[in-house]
Amino acid sequence: MDHDCLFCKIIAGEIPATIRYEDSQLIVFDDIDPQAPQHFLIVPKKHIRTTLDLAPVDSELIGHVYQVAGQVARDLGFSDEGFRVVNNCNEAGGQTVWHIHFHLLGGRDMTWPPG
Ligand code: AMP
Ligand code: ZN
Repeated sequence: MDHDCLFCKIIAGEIPATIRYEDSQLIVFDDIDPQAPQHFLIVPKKHIRTTLDLAPVDSELIGHVYQVAGQVARDLGFSDEGFRVVNNCNEAGGQTVWHIHFHLLGGRDMTWPPG
């Protein structure tokens, strides 16, 4: 755990969040500033700063992220119409929290290209 990290504090239960799913490897909670009717953050419990910091040992974890994305979308009833999974990396990629996470967005038509 990184004691200066917002998402590590949420994982540790020190900062409240609306948790939708949790297992030994990751947690899923509501984004505080939703950009779609359904907007959740899928956050590995391991403190990995950015996508650039992923190591070969993390491959199974990232596969699990996508499997859980589909499971949460299915469980919350927006999988059939479609959804989007987004990872922002570094400043130009739009990253603002320095603990790797994946946005799960649904409940509206997504536009392309993204902003
Ligand atoms: P990113 O800009 O990709 O790093 O995404 C960070 C996300 O974290 C943003 O969508 C924020 O709205 C969200 N966020 C920031 N603080 C909190 C919080 N305390 N609880 C839930 N989501 C948060
Ligand atoms: Zn962290």
